[in-house]
Amino acid sequence: MTAPQTFVIVGAGLAGAKAAEALRTEGFSGRVVLMGEEAERPYDRPPLSKDYLQGRSEKEMIYVHPSGWYAEHDVDLRLGARVISIDRAAREVTIEGGERVGYHKLLLVTGSTPRRLTVAGSDLGGVFYLRGVKDCEAIKSAFATAKRVAIIGAGWIGLETAAAARAAGCEVTLLERGDLPLLAVVGREVAEIYAALHRDHGVELRMGVEVAEITGQDRRATGVRLGDASMVDADVVVVGVGIVPDAGLAEAAALTVDNGVVVDEQLATADPDVFAAGDVANVYYPLLGAHLRLEHWSAALNQGPVAAANMMGRGVSYNRVPYFFSDQYDMGMEYSGYVGKGRYDEIVFRGDVASGAFIAFWLGDGRVLGGMNVNIWDVTDTIQALVRAAAPVDKAKLVDPAVSLGDVLGGLAVPR
Ligand SMILES: Cc1cc2nc3c(=O)[nH]c(=O)nc-3n(C[C@H](O)[C@H](O)[C@H](O)COP(=O)(O)OP(=O)(O)OC[C@H]3O[C@@H](n4cnc5c(N)ncnc54)[C@H](O)[C@@H]3O)c2cc1C
Repeated sequence: MTAPQTFVIVGAGLAGAKAAEALRTEGFSGRVVLMGEEAERPYDRPPLSKDYLQGRSEKEMIYVHPSGWYAEHDVDLRLGARVISIDRAAREVTIEGGERVGYHKLLLVTGSTPRRLTVAGSDLGGVFYLRGVKDCEAIKSAFATAKRVAIIGAGWIGLETAAAARAAGCEVTLLERGDLPLLAVVGREVAEIYAALHRDHGVELRMGVEVAEITGQDRRATGVRLGDASMVDADVVVVGVGIVPDAGLAEAAALTVDNGVVVDEQLATADPDVFAAGDVANVYYPLLGAHLRLEHWSAALNQGPVAAANMMGRGVSYNRVPYFFSDQYDMGMEYSGYVGKGRYDEIVFRGDVASGAFIAFWLGDGRVLGGMNVNIWDVTDTIQALVRAAAPVDKAKLVDPAVSLGDVLGGLAVPR
């Protein structure tokens, strides 16, 4: 009889929790150790800028599994356990404090960390970043008493936080270096829609500005001084200027790191015993013929199980169409596909944008590269099939709500 194997998962976030779950549902009977530096068991982050931040859902709703799940499934969940190094030759990891844990297979799902501002005043009280549940709870209680909130960065986190601050009754100023919110991500036409949405909800948008300093008094933020010397008063400042993958462990262990831990379509590094998934992984997508590091909930959800299967030697490829979602005020959207910066020819709309329910499509060479359904549901599978087909589409039909998307898909001149 061979000794049972030990699979170690570093990072007890969504990808880690889903990998542990898949190991058990796929029948792995060895030891599973799931290590996370946070004190909380694995939880979903999207509610932290939406319902939970707005006090509209209970904390219990954020967790990936009920608290008893880990013991019931014989998953050794180590919380407050920060892994400080990997010894690939000895096949073991070291936890802060010195404990070493050996592995047969190792999964790195360490996620990412908010990019920090470096301007003067960045460390003042009242300046927040939003990544974990503690950050969310601190921001929620700050919004409860704040009068004026300045948000630096008009990406998804900044915009959702702006909506939450408005819901809490705060005056909100959104500061962004680009000309529009999300400009580099969604292009001008859709960025204009998000700008209008926030203006309509009373947010002051200051676009094309540089942050020079966070001003303060008695070690607390009082506002933001901009590059043109103008001042934005604020008692709370939330910074959302992007994230960086937590790939330091992998780098120190001489794994290939280039915008995250580089893995193939089976989420394997060049070391056959080490895998990576979720925010930290720069994954080869056969569909796109390129590596992509996605900072999306669905990538963590679905890559975790694929990595787990491959730790068990199953040889499964990850080849999903990228997908994410966002909720702001009464505007919910899902986005499927991937459009590199400026890599599309045009954006076309299906339905009336002014009605608040429509689908935007990004087209390149007459093909659908991406689609965003706004307040229209149950169309994701069809949009993803259009993206996956990568075939010229009949544009007149695509934008005509009288023609079903299924018929548009059925009319593509490709075998599916
Ligand atoms: C506020 C917020 C809102 C979001 N909203 C959306 C949304 O609406 N739609 C969407 O698609 N995506 C959204 N996302 C992104 C999504 O949540 C992430 O893509 C997802 O959490 C990534 O999961 P992960 O498991 O890869 O990493 P994480 O969730 O970051 O988990 C990694 C875990 O590893 C731990 N860790 C790191 N280093 C170590 C170490 N050395 N030792 C032990 N543990 C370690 C970290 O503490 C962390 O708990 C949002 C993210 C945030 C922060």
